Amino acid sequence: MTDTGQRGPTAQGRKASAGKEGRKLPRSIAIDGPSASGKSSVGYLVAERLGYLFLDTGATYRALTWLALKRGVQLEDAESLGRLAAQVDMKLGPPAVGSCERCTIWVDGEDATAVLRRTEVEAGVSLVSRVPQVRRAMVAFQRRLAGRRRVVMAGRDIGTVVLPNADLKVYLDASLEERARRRQEQLATLGRASSQNDIGEEILRRDAIDSEREASPLRAAEDAIVINTDGLSQEQVVERVVALAEGRS
Ligand code: C5P
Repeated sequence: MTDTGQRGPTAQGRKASAGKEGRKLPRSIAIDGPSASGKSSVGYLVAERLGYLFLDTGATYRALTWLALKRGVQLEDAESLGRLAAQVDMKLGPPAVGSCERCTIWVDGEDATAVLRRTEVEAGVSLVSRVPQVRRAMVAFQRRLAGRRRVVMAGRDIGTVVLPNADLKVYLDASLEERARRRQEQLATLGRASSQNDIGEEILRRDAIDSEREASPLRAAEDAIVINTDGLSQEQVVERVVALAEGRS
């Protein structure tokens, strides 16, 4: 897999990355958690505050899934999926104005950002991401990006596999009800109506595959700080993570 990096720090971020009261800020921040736990939104805002690169690894698995479907690759065909992951040219850039995604993503020269939440991608992504050959290619890609700059990376296996030496590891969790409510809001911004029940079932289905797979299952790293976000606003969660990064809590 080939790649390019993302945006530079904001002016506010550059100031902040010097560190409050001269404290050393972490070089990398891992944010893991189950579906719709708020990792991407929180990770993006934390990166903005600190002037870090943000990498939403879920978007990379989704984009690869879309490409596999487009090319007619069977999602049970591990070998072909692994080959696709090893050969794909994936590029990440800053989000487009007005987009609900936290990055723009191109696969083999095509902008795949708008298709990441399609029903068929949502249904297939956990099947693609459980393939060990796929994970090997994606993890190498993610590590290359992280090697260049200070980074906030969101996913399922960041603290456990991708960046096991991350200076700060956070695991975000929330009740199924709360996660289904948040996903429903997100889908509504895309003009898609769905019942909380259906969304909850889809979340449970994906969580089950992600947690039970053999290769890098979803779990909190032993040294992760677990934050249950039920009853917390997004701003409160961001503030908590920034405070942890700055050594204030
Ligand atoms: O975070 P998001 O819901 O966009 O992730 C989509 C899917 O990508 C997850 O359900 C999971 O199967 C896969 N994924 C993964 N490892 C990551 C990030 C996402 O397996 N680090």
